[in-house]
Amino acid sequence: MANSQTYDDRDGWIWFDGKLVPWREAEVHVLTHALHYASSVFEGQRAYDGDIFKLHQHCERLHKSANILGFQIPWSVDEIAAACKEVLKANNLTDAYMRPLAWLGSERMGVSPTGTKPHLAIAAWEWGKYYSPEKAAKGIRLTIAPWRRPAPYTAPVHSKASGLYMIAMLSRKHAEDTGFDDALMFDWRGQVAEATGANVFFIRDGALYTPVPDCFLNGITRQTVIELAQRRGIEVNERAIWPDELESFEQMFLTGSAAEITPVGSVGPWSFEVGDLTRQLDQDYDDLVHGRISNG
Ligand code: PMP
Repeated sequence: MANSQTYDDRDGWIWFDGKLVPWREAEVHVLTHALHYASSVFEGQRAYDGDIFKLHQHCERLHKSANILGFQIPWSVDEIAAACKEVLKANNLTDAYMRPLAWLGSERMGVSPTGTKPHLAIAAWEWGKYYSPEKAAKGIRLTIAPWRRPAPYTAPVHSKASGLYMIAMLSRKHAEDTGFDDALMFDWRGQVAEATGANVFFIRDGALYTPVPDCFLNGITRQTVIELAQRRGIEVNERAIWPDELESFEQMFLTGSAAEITPVGSVGPWSFEVGDLTRQLDQDYDDLVHGRISNG
């Protein structure tokens, strides 16, 4: 069922600091620390046929993301996993996108987080494909982002922190304003990094190439695709990729919990075909998330 209502005005239940509350009542105050100083971290995960894919890994990453931002979520990884399942059930969902979010509250104001408390909420809703299936079938069109992924010493790059999405949001807006679907971001050195909400892979002569995640998220989908490729005996090269190598690649795709596997048709002046290997990995991923092939 498509839901055209805004995200604050829907039926359903949201897990909020330990209990399920009616969707419209899951609110925070305007003087929330996170809203002013970006002290928040989140997860994006999908449920397929009632099972949340790689749930434990997502809950662990949420904990780690908070720790990197200097706070501890007062629920264990197992408790968060149980809460995610409860949310899915309470909303009668089997195929859904889920958004656990942890943030510092309104107990104190000022840059210092001292005295603020960590909070946790988990929402779930039906969310179809991240990119339109018609566009994905031909390969989505990317532009080059005007922003670069920051150096590890300038931002907490391994945390899935809301603050890091400022440049992603601006890059995505720039892409949409100029007629593209999304943007490819380079990193602080000028190397190919990732898209605004997904990792990137390239294919040449039957082998996969993907940048080393040393200043951006080592996505759970990225790790899954590497494993799926290795199961098929496909060579996977994890190494620095400079933009001048882009023209030599034949295929390109994005990976992410929301984006799943999305073929890319072009990045700025460089074109790619939606080829057999991309389609094969897409099928393998679909088989894995739906439990048609085993998990490792
Ligand atoms: N990079 C960014 C910036 C993302 O937002 C995401 C989506 N969480 C990813 C990569 C892919 O991560 P994952 O496969 O764990 O969803």
